[in-house]
Amino acid sequence: MSEYARSLPLTDLSQDEAEFRQVVRDFADERIRPRVHAMDEAEQIPRDVIDACFELGLMGIEISAEYGGAAAPFFMSILAIEQLARVDPSLAVLVDVQNTLVNNALLRWGTESQRKKYCPKLASEWVGAYALSEADSGSDAFALACRAEADGDHYTLTGQKLWITNAAEAELFIVMATIDPAKGYKGITSFLVERSFPGLTIGKKELKLGIRASSTCELILEGCRVPRENVLGEPGKGYKIAIETLNEGRIGIGAQMVGLSQGALDLAVQYSQERQQFGRPIAEFQAVQFELAELATQIEAARLLTYNAARLRDVRLPFVKEAAMAKLFASRTAERVASSAIEVHGGYGFTREYPIEKYFRDQKVGQIYEGTTNMQLTVIAKQILGKMH
Ligand SMILES: Cc1cc2nc3c(=O)[nH]c(=O)nc-3n(C[C@H](O)[C@H](O)[C@H](O)COP(=O)(O)OP(=O)(O)OC[C@H]3O[C@@H](n4cnc5c(N)ncnc54)[C@H](O)[C@@H]3O)c2cc1C
Repeated sequence: MSEYARSLPLTDLSQDEAEFRQVVRDFADERIRPRVHAMDEAEQIPRDVIDACFELGLMGIEISAEYGGAAAPFFMSILAIEQLARVDPSLAVLVDVQNTLVNNALLRWGTESQRKKYCPKLASEWVGAYALSEADSGSDAFALACRAEADGDHYTLTGQKLWITNAAEAELFIVMATIDPAKGYKGITSFLVERSFPGLTIGKKELKLGIRASSTCELILEGCRVPRENVLGEPGKGYKIAIETLNEGRIGIGAQMVGLSQGALDLAVQYSQERQQFGRPIAEFQAVQFELAELATQIEAARLLTYNAARLRDVRLPFVKEAAMAKLFASRTAERVASSAIEVHGGYGFTREYPIEKYFRDQKVGQIYEGTTNMQLTVIAKQILGKMH
């Protein structure tokens, strides 16, 4: 498999991959596109849309068939996120967090009984969320203050998480807390916390610039009792889970930004062929053609970086630098493409009657979450400087 995969062009899809991509693309175009504007205005993803994602198998892509998942490689998640983001980056990030962070962490570090308990739910009905950030620890994530104290057969979690994607919908949260602040990052531990556990409440929902339909909420833990058997991985190894899942997760954000860019370019291309000025479609002006060509080239480069990082991850080759590069480049590409696509639309692009302005609002977060642009540059610099010694 690995020799075969490596000998192929990155964008050449296997039959399974091509069919899956088409299914997600059709789903996004036919069932999601008509509802995107209303979801953005309501700042909510209706439950029936989430249920449709479960029915299509988009919420448990890597989960094994025995637990109701699609047993597919990580790359399939990347294809799904890209195709959803072409139409709605909010729905894309819901699916992204589920697959690349929550399911991924559970599959990799969960015990057999944890997987048996939670994978079937995550593949069929439960949305998951990933709670690392706090008000005073963002880029400096391991300065987190959320505390976990051992108490017989339970831990008691106390603290507040901020910016938690999917929190409004989620039934399961992967929460990072410290069992011993004196140990610094070596005290950080991951917990599987069910929404129904006493002491967990969902706090304020953020009102955002973009991806408004995606919920981003505070998570309040007030003596939340979590059974010891719900520690994910070993106590004190939560930092490793966080680093490694985010390394993979940022490939998902790269895919989200590639899909978003493609969606914006598609609209700009279509509009440029319809809009007439000086007696002809604006697409006939070379300046417009050249800009569209520049954007298409940037997107292709971002897609290649993203696909390459995902395929490296699937064949267990080093991918950390490539994943950071993919997210860095794809998020910058999305900013450029969404901005230019508005200009191609002229004044109409600046109104909320046309769908293009939403792409501009939605792209900005790509340079913030799962590690800001500066954090991606830090990862890349560490990798290249480390290799020079
Ligand atoms: C919509 C949304 C959804 C999110 N979803 C989740 C989620 O599901 N789970 C979760 O845990 N978190 C989530 N986050 C949080 C996100 O990961 C953080 O916002 C991000 O890590 C940045 O942290 P911060 O906001 O505290 O910014 P800060 O860390 O305060 O950064 C502010 C600025 O300082 C720069 N900076 C900071 N330190 C350095 C440095 N050492 N060198 C150079 N520059 C530096 C940053 O690059 C940035 O430009 C989400 C955020 C948003 C906006």
